[in-house]
Amino acid sequence: MVESLTEQATDVVVLGAGIVGVSAAYAIRARGLSVTLVDRKLPGEETSYGNAGILSSGSILPLNKPSLFSALPSYLTNQNAALRWDPTWTLRNIEWVLRFLANAVPSRVKPRATALHGLIGASLPLHRDWIVKAGVPERIRETGWLKVWRSDAVASAKAEQAALADYGIKSELLDRQAISALEPNILPVYKVGLLHTQTASVDSPGNVTKAYARMFDGTGGLIRQSEIRAIVPDGAGWRVVLGDGALSARHVVVALGPWSPDILRPLGYRVPMAFERGYHQEFKPNPARSLQRPIHDAEGSFLMTPMEQGVRVTSGVELTGRDAPSNFAQLAQVVPLARGVVEFGDAVAAPWRGARPTLPDSLPMIGPAPRHSGLWLAFGNQHIGFTTGPATGAAIAAMISGAQPPFDVGAFAPSRYL
Ligand SMILES: Cc1cc2nc3c(=O)[nH]c(=O)nc-3n(C[C@H](O)[C@H](O)[C@H](O)COP(=O)(O)OP(=O)(O)OC[C@H]3O[C@@H](n4cnc5c(N)ncnc54)[C@H](O)[C@@H]3O)c2cc1C
Repeated sequence: MVESLTEQATDVVVLGAGIVGVSAAYAIRARGLSVTLVDRKLPGEETSYGNAGILSSGSILPLNKPSLFSALPSYLTNQNAALRWDPTWTLRNIEWVLRFLANAVPSRVKPRATALHGLIGASLPLHRDWIVKAGVPERIRETGWLKVWRSDAVASAKAEQAALADYGIKSELLDRQAISALEPNILPVYKVGLLHTQTASVDSPGNVTKAYARMFDGTGGLIRQSEIRAIVPDGAGWRVVLGDGALSARHVVVALGPWSPDILRPLGYRVPMAFERGYHQEFKPNPARSLQRPIHDAEGSFLMTPMEQGVRVTSGVELTGRDAPSNFAQLAQVVPLARGVVEFGDAVAAPWRGARPTLPDSLPMIGPAPRHSGLWLAFGNQHIGFTTGPATGAAIAAMISGAQPPFDVGAFAPSRYL
């Protein structure tokens, strides 16, 4: 149901209809509260549209881990497809960069991996359940995720396999022949592979988010398309100021992804968020050369996912301002590499750009704002927000209702930074 009233009182207003906000809205509604979900766009049209569609069981080690230090020299020239950085942005945000690096030391890896394992572990069953309930089970593929190396990187693959096994996450080590058997349509450029067998993927993250939004709508939730201008404490609750009216609610959930810090600044919260920007472009697939699963070329620094509209090639990280002009250099670097792996045709659309919202410890904020009652924060899901959206939303729903969240939310408390 698309909301059209200008003034509406509701139990909860959820700000942002990406995968996190849609998931929160659905999970809160499922607990019997009235919910209005607000976004200036239709659901799932920003970051939750353009990602690589991987529902990753194994992404428990964030980018800021010890191996980042050995990779740093290769980033200095700013030519590496894995990471480009804007010097001006870096100088202005040096505090964020140093905090991010400080979290990469060995002693800070395990607690964060354990926290992310809990979040991911709670999220994947929800995706598998919701995608069926939302009526789009055909959009999920249970074919795993294949990470591949061009060099003889058996030691790297085995180290990753062992790290995953510590958390009970299964994977299979593959040689060139086994890779070809699994993906017969790719050229034999890879020597080593690691198949994440418990990982799934979807053929359109935007459409999956829209399907979850329709499911929310079907339970009596309201969706309102409006610009969100401000949130203002109002008695025991909140007034949400929109471009075309206002809403009042007992609780407000901020799930604005990379835009979340903006709405919180006037309330005195300075969210230390950086934007790991990324690009994708989709290409006409050759039906005789199809891919069975997402492929991550570890040394080429790109991902390829078979999507509804074509082969989606996704680039690495660009550290710069959220709204800085696009720089397609990384995409230009990796698309020819991808073409050398599998045959595909012309681009089906212009390149897309998005921003992975990342806090210095690479953990999202999931929980209450420290100094305001009824204000809930759900953002910062970095590279794995599409995977972790459902459990992020379910945890917020539980906390609003005074129930136990489905995983240990301690490490995600907003108070660690605010
Ligand atoms: C290149 C790339 C590849 C990725 N690949 C994967 C992957 O394979 N698997 C995975 O799990 N994750 C992946 N991610 C990460 C994932 O996409 C994000 O973490 C996730 O989509 C964040 O979701 P969100 O709901 O927090 O934000 P968003 O989807 O951005 O939603 C925020 C919403 O807020 C709305 N909004 C903002 N400001 C306002 C305002 N003032 N008024 C009204 N509305 C507003 C926006 O319109 C938007 O709809 C990838 C990200 C990128 C960039």
